[in-house]
Amino acid sequence: MIILPSWLIVQGKEAPRPNWGVRILNDKISDVAPNADLCNKYPQDEVLEANGRILSPGFVNTHTHLYGVLAHGIPLDKAPEGFWPFLQDFWWPNVEDRLDQPMIEAATAYQCSQMVRGGVTTFYDCLEAPNALPGCLEAQAVIVRNLGLRGILSFEATERSSPENGQKGLQENVDFIVSCQKTGGLLSGMMCFHTTFSCSADFIQKAFLMATNLGVSVHMHCSEGSYEPDQALVNFGMRPIHYYDYLGVAGSNMLASQCVHLDAKEIALIAKRGIRMSHMPLSNCEVGGGIAPVPQLLKAGVTVGLGSDGYIDDFFDIMRGAFLIHKANQQDPRVMPADLVWYLATEGGAKVLGLEKIGRIEVGWQADLQLIFPQLPTSLETWNLYDQLILYGSQNWVETVLVSGRLLVKDYKVENSDITQLRKSVFENAQRLWNVI
Ligand SMILES: [Zn+2]
Repeated sequence: MIILPSWLIVQGKEAPRPNWGVRILNDKISDVAPNADLCNKYPQDEVLEANGRILSPGFVNTHTHLYGVLAHGIPLDKAPEGFWPFLQDFWWPNVEDRLDQPMIEAATAYQCSQMVRGGVTTFYDCLEAPNALPGCLEAQAVIVRNLGLRGILSFEATERSSPENGQKGLQENVDFIVSCQKTGGLLSGMMCFHTTFSCSADFIQKAFLMATNLGVSVHMHCSEGSYEPDQALVNFGMRPIHYYDYLGVAGSNMLASQCVHLDAKEIALIAKRGIRMSHMPLSNCEVGGGIAPVPQLLKAGVTVGLGSDGYIDDFFDIMRGAFLIHKANQQDPRVMPADLVWYLATEGGAKVLGLEKIGRIEVGWQADLQLIFPQLPTSLETWNLYDQLILYGSQNWVETVLVSGRLLVKDYKVENSDITQLRKSVFENAQRLWNVI
């Protein structure tokens, strides 16, 4: 098949090309050329005319909690007073501890459908549900495979409930990683634990050892609020990134999410050790966490991607947050240019997840693509395209999505998916979650 758009985004960081398109063969991109050349070279191919559309790599959501949708609008007695009360008094007892597998399945089906509908072709999920063990990752996987999204699933192991529950969480990841390595396909697993304040040193080192033996990365939340570095200084005499280094686990197989509260020495160490970082500008606002030093991390050469955190899921909103928040924070409109933000949302995200040949439109790379039909009152030009999309775009502009060469969204609708039914199921399961509060 050849796709003939008005604009081609090969990758963020590079100027969009007017009237260039692609040829797709099976699951990969087999040619990238001006539209006229593609038509001449491949007269027998099926043609997808996309006049007025922008063809871009699909978005990579480097951090979500699919179950999070169940808590959208959940009743609260009062707003949590900070990051620690948010976890201890609200999120853990009222959400995570009450999740069961039917709730997780309903949320997974709805959220995956919404993600792909909005142009996300790859995602990483972190499931936090200590009372839904074992088997919750396999239950999610059935749904994701059925839809056809590319993803990495993990269970966030933590010793906060009990040491035994922590071990069950680690084992859930091992079982799922091994199962995916046997099966192949678009889904894989990753090792995951919570934080330095909910997991012991032995537990953290064991998680890394298991991951190394399986050849996978390890994910954790890191310094989302000031609570974690404060506690680390009291308990270990050093800040979290230095603590990981002291434990001998800080390295290129480490994926640290959030990283809001870092000092300059931690930023330098993250860069030196090749630790990757997932940035969630909007959820950092939600919990009053602060603003992550992303421009400084990027300047130090750190691999950064963007994530939704299961909070606000429209990736255009997330890009807009990343684009704007650092300008205000640093009082400098030059930080975080739009083309860089687009890169973080696509190829940068794939690099954060350790995925190869994803996030760029280049021969031999995976055909994970989206066609965006912008509805703008002013002209779209080479020099303003990224700014126009990031400032004024919406997931509602995403018309067509392909993952691994397979058409998953056509005419703004997810193929073989009844969104009304999926929403109803989330609604009913959310009622069940909320009613016992
Ligand atoms: Zn998170």
